[in-house]
Amino acid sequence: MKLYNIKENEEQVSFGQAVRQGLGRNQGLFFPSELPKFDDIESLLAEDFISRSSKILSALIGDELSSDQVNQLVSEAFQFPAPIKTVKDGVYALELFHGPTLAFKDFGGRFMAQSLAAVTADKGQKITILTATSGDTGAAVAHAFYGMENINVVILYPKGKISPLQEKLFCTLGGNIHTVAIDGDFDACQSLVKQAFDDQALREDIGLNSANSINISRLMAQICYYFEAAAQMSKAERDNLVISVPSGNFGNLTAGLLAKALGLPIKRFIAATNANDTVPRYLETGKWDPKPTIATTSNAMDVSQPNNWPRIEELCRIKGWGLDTLGKGMVTDEQSAESVVELNELGYLCEPHGAIAYRVLTQQLQEGETGLFLCTAHPAKFKEVVDEILDTDIDVPGPLAKHGAMELLSEDLAADFDLLKDVLRRVQG
Ligand SMILES: *Cc1c(COP(=O)(O)O)cnc(C)c1O
Repeated sequence: MKLYNIKENEEQVSFGQAVRQGLGRNQGLFFPSELPKFDDIESLLAEDFISRSSKILSALIGDELSSDQVNQLVSEAFQFPAPIKTVKDGVYALELFHGPTLAFKDFGGRFMAQSLAAVTADKGQKITILTATSGDTGAAVAHAFYGMENINVVILYPKGKISPLQEKLFCTLGGNIHTVAIDGDFDACQSLVKQAFDDQALREDIGLNSANSINISRLMAQICYYFEAAAQMSKAERDNLVISVPSGNFGNLTAGLLAKALGLPIKRFIAATNANDTVPRYLETGKWDPKPTIATTSNAMDVSQPNNWPRIEELCRIKGWGLDTLGKGMVTDEQSAESVVELNELGYLCEPHGAIAYRVLTQQLQEGETGLFLCTAHPAKFKEVVDEILDTDIDVPGPLAKHGAMELLSEDLAADFDLLKDVLRRVQG
């Protein structure tokens, strides 16, 4: 697999390099030079999740890893299902929260951890994973890398802006997992990560790598559950499929569009956001005009400068898909709460991120189309919000409850790059 840097096209890397480096020069994202196309989608869909996903990822990766190796990585990473549930006639929920940290980011985080171990030839080489999280990436990455030899993980998150349970899930592990509460919002955390990657000396010194959705291996893993969703439908349903994606950094939507590029027949995608609506406004006006980040009840989507957007533009350009074919919609906290209530009345318990995707989907779904919305987190992960909206006390599953009782191990830090550098060198030390 060859990938190029979207900003500096002459920089070309292998899959292994892209996984190890995360970002290219000048903060450019890597993008595959060639996308395989599956002609016989029906027989691919007939396979089980693991063998189908192995085929897809093996076709993308090419001969850098053997198909047996890829199968092994996938089997280690995808140890939980991605079921679809009927919510009402012609509308399905895709549940992506059955992994260890109860959000879809387990798919990408775990596949990335497996891939990184597989492509690191020098096993004694020390690696520092630096990542910014608006909540769920941190947990998925922390759990995916916890206890791995020679890998230190440093996770930045906006202090006080993620749910207490979310925080407990990844800031209580210790060992090779270091968590830093930044005095600022998610964009400030993301900007610190970018500065670290721009610092060539630091980067080489500590073997810097990112586990953000900027790492291509994460996006590749996420392609697989779009196929898995389609596989659970009848042919008639999936041939008219409209998929609504609750979006923040836009990795999930990028993966969906990649699935379409590989041959999965998806009629339309919808980019659903909360009040941080840079993309819906851009699709409407053609003007890229990020506003300051607003804190919402769907905090994993509180991103006003989505990192993955250039990949979507690149893919649409290559495929000749007009950006106007993308559906879009912005949902306020009040409206998402209404949709949580509506879904609950339909007998489906959902948290605000999924509810945002449901709302925009049902507003835009047309006669004869099948709708699918992505449920990116388990309702209990946003227990405070869901309890308040539904005036109830929902159950907390075992893993969350266990971490909820543990001590927070995070350190506080101002949003200052020099201070972060000190932390990184100390951790590596
Ligand atoms: C990360 C996250 C999102 C946003 O996904 P992107 O790939 O960043 O667009 C949505 N919902 C939940 C629960 C998340 O954790």
